[in-house]
Amino acid sequence: MDEIKQKDRQYILGTYGRFDLHIVRGKGSVCEDEQGKKYIDLGSGIGVNSLGYCDDGWVKAVEEQLETLQHTSNLYYTSPSALLAEALCSRTGYSKVFFCNSGAEANEAAIKTARKYSFDKYGQGRNKIITLNKSFHGRTMATLTATAQEAMHNFFFPFNEGFEYCEKDIEDIKSRQGVCAVMLEFIQGEGGVIPLDKHFVEQVYDYCKSNDILFIADEVQTGVGRTGRFLCSEHYGVKPDVTTLAKGLGGGLPIGAMLAGEKCADVMGAGTHGSTFGGNPVVCAGGRYVLSRLTDEFLGEVREKGELVKELLIGAKGVKSVSGLGLMLGIELEEKKASDVVKECINRGVIPLTAKEKVRLLPPLIITKEELKKAVGILKEVIGE
Ligand SMILES: *Cc1c(COP(=O)(O)O)cnc(C)c1O
Repeated sequence: MDEIKQKDRQYILGTYGRFDLHIVRGKGSVCEDEQGKKYIDLGSGIGVNSLGYCDDGWVKAVEEQLETLQHTSNLYYTSPSALLAEALCSRTGYSKVFFCNSGAEANEAAIKTARKYSFDKYGQGRNKIITLNKSFHGRTMATLTATAQEAMHNFFFPFNEGFEYCEKDIEDIKSRQGVCAVMLEFIQGEGGVIPLDKHFVEQVYDYCKSNDILFIADEVQTGVGRTGRFLCSEHYGVKPDVTTLAKGLGGGLPIGAMLAGEKCADVMGAGTHGSTFGGNPVVCAGGRYVLSRLTDEFLGEVREKGELVKELLIGAKGVKSVSGLGLMLGIELEEKKASDVVKECINRGVIPLTAKEKVRLLPPLIITKEELKKAVGILKEVIGE
């Protein structure tokens, strides 16, 4: 074992079961281990490196900001966060943005916004947040509680109050009382790349609208071009009251964002919420650059590349089904264990992810069709053996 792996095991809290791979550098869709062996990346650091490793323009934008001003706190005005917020609002039609540092933190902001929206308007007691079975919303206490996976609700008692877990069934949702918001992922990512049924989403959306219940979309994984639209809600034809973003937004630096629509843009006033690092100038400069690259043409290519991967995989030996949209795809296997497939792929120079029992692909959005064909070819080989 190399020295770094040893130090990692000795000194870093053992919360991650790492693969046996030490990545030292990367460019575009390809990274290298400590021995110089190259890998095509089909995971982009769990959907984070949206422009791949060390994109030239992104590095330049980040470096320029880094040499100008790295941090001020939110006591003062800075330009990168204001300009990124403007770009996000004009891109999505949302009214205001709250910046933070992760997906969980963005969802925390959404939960607080929903509770306060309801408190301001209806007083106490209408505070429950509905989430869907198999969802994933984060690891902090509130977002872990929001995560409707029984297996994750262990050890850390007491969990937070005020969350209700529903089936993907409108009648189940309608039967819950004292609800201020429904929070959902259009495509459940960690749950196994499970897209919600369009009709179900429309039913929930209409129900929320007519009952003044906030509709919160957790687009931490699906957002920022991942599915071939800037927001996944565009595929579903709905406009959530709140959308949360994180993973791909910074292009590799930690950022989270809560986008608030008209209805709740003014719910959170001065002193109600905050984040010391939120809206960091360097991170926001990176985010602005990511947005500048996600043109309609670019997103069209993301959709095409997603279709290409589906064509390559559907009907292949050992593949039962392929789910997802754009470059967020889940591969259900006939027999093989997803983690075994990933391990063998890594041996052969390709890095996919897993999501529950599926192999999950979240390649950098800039990956070329040639790289995809090569990487998916190896993946097919491994699955079909
Ligand atoms: C990854 C993820 C989160 C949590 O994001 P962190 O940055 O790890 O806190 C929340 N929701 C969804 C849908 C995610 O995919």
